[in-house]
Amino acid sequence: MSLRDENTTVVIVGSGVAGLALGNFLLRSGIDCVILERRSRAYVERRQRAGVIDTRAARMFREWGLEERVVGGEPFEPVMNFRIDGRTRPFRFLADDNGDGRFCPQQVLVRNLIDAFVGDGGDLRFEAEDVTLENLRGERPLVRYRDTTGATRALTCEVVAGCDGDRGVSRASIPADSITRYSREYGYAWLTVLAEAAPNHQSMMAIHSRGFAGQFARGPHASRFYLQCPLEGSTQDWPDERVWGELEARFGEPVAARGPIVSKQMVPLRSVVFDPMSYGNLYLLGDAAHIVPPMSAKGMNLALHDADVLAKAVLSKVKDNDPTPLEEYSATCLRHVWNYQAFAAWFTDLMHDSGDASYRGVFQQQIARAELERLYASTTANRLFGEFLVGLNE
Ligand SMILES: Cc1cc2nc3c(=O)[nH]c(=O)nc-3n(C[C@H](O)[C@H](O)[C@H](O)COP(=O)(O)OP(=O)(O)OC[C@H]3O[C@@H](n4cnc5c(N)ncnc54)[C@H](O)[C@@H]3O)c2cc1C
Repeated sequence: MSLRDENTTVVIVGSGVAGLALGNFLLRSGIDCVILERRSRAYVERRQRAGVIDTRAARMFREWGLEERVVGGEPFEPVMNFRIDGRTRPFRFLADDNGDGRFCPQQVLVRNLIDAFVGDGGDLRFEAEDVTLENLRGERPLVRYRDTTGATRALTCEVVAGCDGDRGVSRASIPADSITRYSREYGYAWLTVLAEAAPNHQSMMAIHSRGFAGQFARGPHASRFYLQCPLEGSTQDWPDERVWGELEARFGEPVAARGPIVSKQMVPLRSVVFDPMSYGNLYLLGDAAHIVPPMSAKGMNLALHDADVLAKAVLSKVKDNDPTPLEEYSATCLRHVWNYQAFAAWFTDLMHDSGDASYRGVFQQQIARAELERLYASTTANRLFGEFLVGLNE
């Protein structure tokens, strides 16, 4: 078959949360789309990362009629269990309206989104290799890739959605002088550890002079642990016994949720924003356009926000012949992204600076401690924090 003849309205590159959410929204709106994913279905469905769907994102799925099919997990309780210098100080955050947030492992959401998309007849092509994007500024961009038989295929479309993460091909296809990268490096990393261990609570975060530590539920049989550590070094420096010992030292108590460690990864903490989030008919979504430090639990939620905005904008152009929301896509998303980048940077500094003073000094540590106390003492500060956590601060 001459595959040059393939035409669609939107080609979505990448089937992470951004690409799959967008695909589902378009499919439900009767807009043709094809999703191209480099990895296999099994790989994508197993990839463990985020664990929190905030209230805004859960409501967005409800608005698109997908909540029941894709959002799972325990309700997100408005309590954070802080262990400060080895003592528990629970913090209950105030948010007028937090009924809908969920502790939902990212791979569960991804699996459900794939089932919904494929089940409704969506076109999702796994193991699509060597994707290239051409004619992005023209009326009909061309997307080529190599399929599982080794044949090169080509699709023309009106819109390309770059949902292929920080290292994908989409952003790399934009000429360097047409996009600006804004970034901040925090100077430390997280060792992230996944254990097959039933969580004994939803979340616990340690503030300690040895560094930050965190423990989060990832479903009924899995727990995710985080340890602040230097950028230098690798997972090899962290045999299992050292991980458990360090967690206990920072929490100041034995780790109840112990179990076999199934993965370890080093994640340097950074904040990154690319501006604009579009180039011609290419639109960037999720990690392809911005990275927030995982402390904020907002990366997945920002990706879902982008998908919501882009789906509505494409709908407006295709169904109502109004290109304005598409023209404003980048500005609309960037306003939201910078607002949440501000929250993510503040929360990351607060949780790390108030413990280990070796990065930013004792003055910054005192500032961070004062801000932490303000959260407990001030209803206004608490409520603002709560609104960001549940995603309702636009
Ligand atoms: C340890 C950790 C913890 C986190 N915790 C949270 C949290 O609690 N809450 C939260 O909201 N966020 C969290 N995040 C962030 C969140 O995981 C990401 O922001 C989210 O995955 C972004 O979704 P995405 O769809 O943009 O990108 P991705 O999920 O990275 O998906 C991109 C997809 O594109 C595919 N791809 C890449 N290149 C190509 C190509 N050339 N061709 C075709 N396909 C390609 C990839 O295989 C992948 O499937 C965490 C991240 C980490 C690392």
